[in-house]
Amino acid sequence: MRLSRIFIIATALLFVLVCLPLAWIISSEWSLYRATDDGLEAIRIARLAMVAAERVAYERGPANALLGTAPDQDKLKRMSQVRRDSDVALRTLLAALSPGASSDHRQANQSAQQARRQLNRARDAVDAAAATPSRTTARMMGAVRQMFDVIPPLLEAVTALSAHASAVHPQLANPLSGARLATELREYAGRLGSQLTAALALGRPLTADEKQEVDVLRGRIEQLHSTIRLRLSVPATPPATRQAARLMEQRYFGAGMALVDAVVRAGEQGRAYPVDTAGFAARYVPTMATIITLRDTMLSAAATEALQQHRAALHHLLSAVALGVIALLAQLALFFYIRRQLVQPLLSASRLLTDIAQGRLEAAVPEPRRDNEIGEVLRAIAALRRSSLEKRTLEQERQRLIDELTEISRIDFLTGIANRRAFTEAAEAEISRAVRDGAPAALILFDIDHFKQVNDRHGHDVGDAALTHVASLIARACREGDLAGRYGGEEFVMLTGSGGEAAGAVLAERLRAGIAESPLRLASGQTLALTASFGVAALDDTHRTLHSLLQAADHALYAAKRQGRNQVVRAGQEENEG
Ligand code: GH3
Ligand code: MG
Ligand code: MG
Repeated sequence: MRLSRIFIIATALLFVLVCLPLAWIISSEWSLYRATDDGLEAIRIARLAMVAAERVAYERGPANALLGTAPDQDKLKRMSQVRRDSDVALRTLLAALSPGASSDHRQANQSAQQARRQLNRARDAVDAAAATPSRTTARMMGAVRQMFDVIPPLLEAVTALSAHASAVHPQLANPLSGARLATELREYAGRLGSQLTAALALGRPLTADEKQEVDVLRGRIEQLHSTIRLRLSVPATPPATRQAARLMEQRYFGAGMALVDAVVRAGEQGRAYPVDTAGFAARYVPTMATIITLRDTMLSAAATEALQQHRAALHHLLSAVALGVIALLAQLALFFYIRRQLVQPLLSASRLLTDIAQGRLEAAVPEPRRDNEIGEVLRAIAALRRSSLEKRTLEQERQRLIDELTEISRIDFLTGIANRRAFTEAAEAEISRAVRDGAPAALILFDIDHFKQVNDRHGHDVGDAALTHVASLIARACREGDLAGRYGGEEFVMLTGSGGEAAGAVLAERLRAGIAESPLRLASGQTLALTASFGVAALDDTHRTLHSLLQAADHALYAAKRQGRNQVVRAGQEENEG
């Protein structure tokens, strides 16, 4: 598999490996964030349920007043005012409870609904009893008890919601159940007060039932008192809660309970009560407010801590998301960095090396971006390309020299026409071809007449110029397919392919006439007449090789010399003409 493909697959795998734990972390942080939000909401609703219980408890005061004496406008007005307050508290609670949220919410909702139904029944009982002129104690007590019965379902709602919040914030279990206990304590404290009201109003001793009820209530209150104290004894209890608890100890369990004790003792002993109903209410009711203060302090401490946790959860969630984004961006950056700095340069390096190996040296090596290993590779490739280019240039130069030497070795230095060797090679090939094809061919050999005299009279340079002059005349006389060369000294040779001996004789004659008619113009202004003698031999059954043709032509040439020079003699005709 190619390295670039492995790189992409590895990056994708790494991406998945990073994404999976990230997604897991973010999802658990998200769940925690949602749970803390939920917990915070549960605390808020639990408080609404506690307030509802408190409001419903308040309703008992005016209800007792309505039942105790003949109803008047003021009492009725007060009654409907208090009922409105508790209706608002219950409605707010029910509106906040969504039955679909959780099983705790569902349970709290059912309890609140039950409390409302119970409250409606109790109010009907109170109204019915109040409307009856001849009220019996049993009927009145029945109505009052029904009012009491509204509270337990509301406390159940509080318990369910506190459990929900404690599940999210386990460390808040103490303050939450402490607040619930304070709500209950406030309820029983209220009931204890109510229990003494009738005796105080009538100035009579407590009945046996009342005494028993007071004992039960005080027992219950003491139980709640010690449970709350236990809850508050933990070191985590905040100073504000301790302060509120101290105040409750002083006011309710100190002054409030002392007043209750005094009234109960007087009631038991049949003595005159130290206070009347109004005095009792004026002194006792404010001490109960400290219980509510303790409840609210505990609740707000719990809510503050839950809010802190909620914020911490949000902070963790955002941190996890930011970390995830940074990790992914870093991975992406690494991917592109490696691709740009390693994979792509490696690919282009391999392409360059292939090109260099195949002799394609045109593509430029990219400038290394960094002074690293890849940069070294690119620099090495650039050096390789440079040396390959130099090698190629040297090879080209060598080839040019070889070509030049080959050319020089085949060309006569003085005249510029083929030398003897080059002519021999070409003529042998041509003659073999002509013999094979049965084609005609004729060889012409000629020699400049009295050339020695030219040298002697005019100097060697003029002799050279005469040779060059004759060579230029040969080049002019040659046709396509004719071969010509300097055979040696002032001797020249030609091979003509077309027309056999006759054509050869015609060419020789034309050349002879050309030489004779074209004197060489000398620098001195004189002219130098030149002539040459020609021997012509044709390719036939007797002369089938270059060697044989040269011998025959040479023979004829010498015949031409003998016969007076400046003439053409055909081989085989020497005798006749001689
Ligand atoms: P003939 O008519 O019998 O051929 O007389 P000739 O003088 O031409 O004959 P010979 O062979 O005696 O002389 C040839 C001369 O050609 C001798 C030599 O000095 C001269 N020669 C040969 N090669 C060159 C050359 O390259 N340059 C010059 N200037 N002279 C050359
Ligand atoms: Mg000669
Ligand atoms: Mg000569």
